[in-house]
Amino acid sequence: MKNAHIVKVLQSQFVTHDVKSIKVERPENYEFIPGQATELSINKRNWKTKKRPFTFTSLVDSNYLEFMVKIYRNREGVTNELGKINAGDELILHDVFGAISYKGPGVFIAAGSGITPFLSIFRELYKRNRIKGNRLIYVNKTSEDVIMGQELFHMLKNDFVNVYTRENVIGFQGKRIDRNFLIENIVDFSQNFYVCGPEDFVKTVTKHLIDLGAEPETIIFDE
Ligand SMILES: Cc1cc2nc3c(=O)[nH]c(=O)nc-3n(C[C@H](O)[C@H](O)[C@H](O)COP(=O)(O)OP(=O)(O)OC[C@H]3O[C@@H](n4cnc5c(N)ncnc54)[C@H](O)[C@@H]3O)c2cc1C
Repeated sequence: MKNAHIVKVLQSQFVTHDVKSIKVERPENYEFIPGQATELSINKRNWKTKKRPFTFTSLVDSNYLEFMVKIYRNREGVTNELGKINAGDELILHDVFGAISYKGPGVFIAAGSGITPFLSIFRELYKRNRIKGNRLIYVNKTSEDVIMGQELFHMLKNDFVNVYTRENVIGFQGKRIDRNFLIENIVDFSQNFYVCGPEDFVKTVTKHLIDLGAEPETIIFDE
């Protein structure tokens, strides 16, 4: 296989009811920038050629690579199989790619597992003491679905806004990210915006941001 790296799983553990953190060995000279992803497959019979994209969440200079994978148990796909892997199993990594990268302070808007490129960016900024001036609006169905909530809160403090679309918890916002939500929560539309999540979510949020005055060049998302 061209540009394929077989790596051992070092650690595999659930961080929410359906999201797994998977840490693997880092191949030599395998570089990425925060926000980038690779295609990954499982080094098991019948699975080797089934490649799926996942985003690196580890620090760029760490000696392992980490992925946060949302497991879809209702499909017999790659993530369901990743749900069963353990330390010692092997994955196959491919080329590094990705459109999302940090272009300066701004508002990050993520839904569900769309947090992964932002987690990578925030971890790196926090480590370098440069996270100030960034805000995160993180949308999930319920509080149970929030990925690395404590760490995000620790890094971003009051600049971390949780939105739950399917529960009403006192102190949290239970609603959709619609035009009104953006008007109420964003004062300045002339800053950078980073959007990541399901295709429909990215499309809708981007459209509202542009309607509200954001310049298309300042909206960063994976096309
Ligand atoms: C650049 C990029 C980076 C990504 N990074 C991450 C990450 O860091 N973490 C993460 O958890 N995910 C990430 N994803 C999403 C991840 O790649 C998918 O969740 C994964 O490919 C699903 O694989 P599967 O084999 O389990 O599902 P499959 O069954 O192969 O489904 C693949 C795709 O088909 C569609 N699909 C199939 N069946 C259904 C159905 N019944 N209902 C609705 N849709 C369906 C979905 O769009 C699904 O994503 C990323 C995606 C991209 C493009």
